[in-house]
Amino acid sequence: MRMIDADMLADGLKLHRQSTDQKHETDRQWAVGYNAGLERALYSISYAPTLTQPNEPLSVLVNDEPDREYIDYICPRCKDIISQRRRGQRMETVYKCKFHDNCGQRVDWSDPQPYCRQPEGEEGA
Ligand SMILES: [Zn+2]
Repeated sequence: MRMIDADMLADGLKLHRQSTDQKHETDRQWAVGYNAGLERALYSISYAPTLTQPNEPLSVLVNDEPDREYIDYICPRCKDIISQRRRGQRMETVYKCKFHDNCGQRVDWSDPQPYCRQPEGEEGA
């Protein structure tokens, strides 16, 4: 896969628009058809789905089980435990990495999401 800048591509394609004030009707019709094809391509580009950028931060996952002394902070991408907080420990003192070293995922700590455990039997730990 090659990720490209769709806005730049569209701007480039727009430069290919043909003038439609031709002397000959056949030339004019050709230009109109050409432009219509170009518009079709521009339409497709503008409605193409976007990919999640690898460096777009995702909310950290939090696994807070009331019977455990530690609260786990989990990477939203690879589901590894990034950090732990002892119950009662201040959040400011918790190690909060901007990137998860293992997978490179950017981590957003401002809005932790509850971690949903895998169904029974699929949990490794
Ligand atoms: Zn990770």
